[in-house]
Amino acid sequence: MLSPILEKVLILQDRDARRRSLESQLRAVPEDLALVEGKIAAEKAAIETARTELRQLESQRKLLETEIGAEEDRLGRYKTQQLAVRKNDEYQALGHEIDTVQAHIGVLEGQELELMYAIDAAKERFAAAEAELRQNINGHEARIATLRERQVSLAAELQAAEAEVAVARQPLDEPVLRLYDRIASRHMPVCVPLHGGKCSGCHLKVSSEVESASRGKPNQANQPELATCDQCGRLVYWES
Ligand SMILES: [Zn+2]
Repeated sequence: MLSPILEKVLILQDRDARRRSLESQLRAVPEDLALVEGKIAAEKAAIETARTELRQLESQRKLLETEIGAEEDRLGRYKTQQLAVRKNDEYQALGHEIDTVQAHIGVLEGQELELMYAIDAAKERFAAAEAELRQNINGHEARIATLRERQVSLAAELQAAEAEVAVARQPLDEPVLRLYDRIASRHMPVCVPLHGGKCSGCHLKVSSEVESASRGKPNQANQPELATCDQCGRLVYWES
């Protein structure tokens, strides 16, 4: 037979367990929110990286085109000069300059072609990064909304659970509450049945004194004793 005190302790324990569970669920929400916000930030950062890369490649290409334009102007001037010269050595010297400039233009055009390929690849990366965010953003935002709602409802449930704990504590005496709080700070559940002489909290065998006390045998003061497990300190009761 469960003593009236233990019955009240078990009610307190039930409500306390619910309060603790709500507390830990509520504590987990900000972490979950940060996780989703982190994903959005990472996807936006990937877009920014791809955008910066694309801009850099495009400005490199503009510089290269300006350089090619300048070399083509130089080539044009040499060709015009060559038409005007009379002396053979001057003609040949200009011919040599023309060859050099033409070769340089060839190298620059090769570089431009490589840049164009790189720009195409960067455009693809940019589009892929944008598409990924576009595809995921609705899911992310829905998840954030759900988590915020959960935060509000858990807070309300927790408040109610705390009030229920307070009510369950009222009929218990101060020494019992102190004992309960001391055990609860180390282990939950606080109060467990004995099964086959073993504490069902730590699964170790209790002494015969504890076992007989757990049957609710009155002590010298004729009060039903509160028996605690000699191994883990939980309150134990006899369950036939
Ligand atoms: Zn134990």
